[in-house]
Amino acid sequence: MHVRTLVRSATATLAMTLALAGGQAVAAPSPAGDRALAPRVLTYDASASAEFKSAVDRGAAIWNESVDGVELRPVATGRRADIRILADNGWPRALPTTLGNGIVYIGRQAVVQGYDTVRISAHELGHILGLPDRKPGPCSSLMSGSSAGTACKNPYPNAAERAEVERDFGGVSVRTAEGPRDVVTAD
Ligand SMILES: [Zn+2]
Repeated sequence: MHVRTLVRSATATLAMTLALAGGQAVAAPSPAGDRALAPRVLTYDASASAEFKSAVDRGAAIWNESVDGVELRPVATGRRADIRILADNGWPRALPTTLGNGIVYIGRQAVVQGYDTVRISAHELGHILGLPDRKPGPCSSLMSGSSAGTACKNPYPNAAERAEVERDFGGVSVRTAEGPRDVVTAD
């Protein structure tokens, strides 16, 4: 009478094992061959982000926790970063150049209004990672940005947002032919 329970338990264990294996860089690419073995590393320079430095580091860490295809790392001293993060008195915004490259401004105007600095940081980094704004939207969406209101402090991308970044960065043939974007993405 315990057979079914045991089978279910064994299946659950197997699924967990597979999930764990899937979370690591395994020896061979998937059968589809569409998965890079290691995350694409993007460096960021938060040395000019003033009082937002820790929020920026937290925003980057959240992306690292959330996706496998890309990893954000502080740039080494004296090296040029893929992403520059600056503090200023305007509205927060991102100026992506190519996928994974660009400048982020953590604007004090939104902070003064009460918006959460970690959510702002993760949101703007989301633009650098290729995500557009999704406004208006709920607090569960990172890219709903300011439309979710100042009470919203969620700094995590939702499943769809994570999947979009994984698609952009997870493939062997990462989009390299993409030209510079001339769109200034505010907030
Ligand atoms: Zn935005």
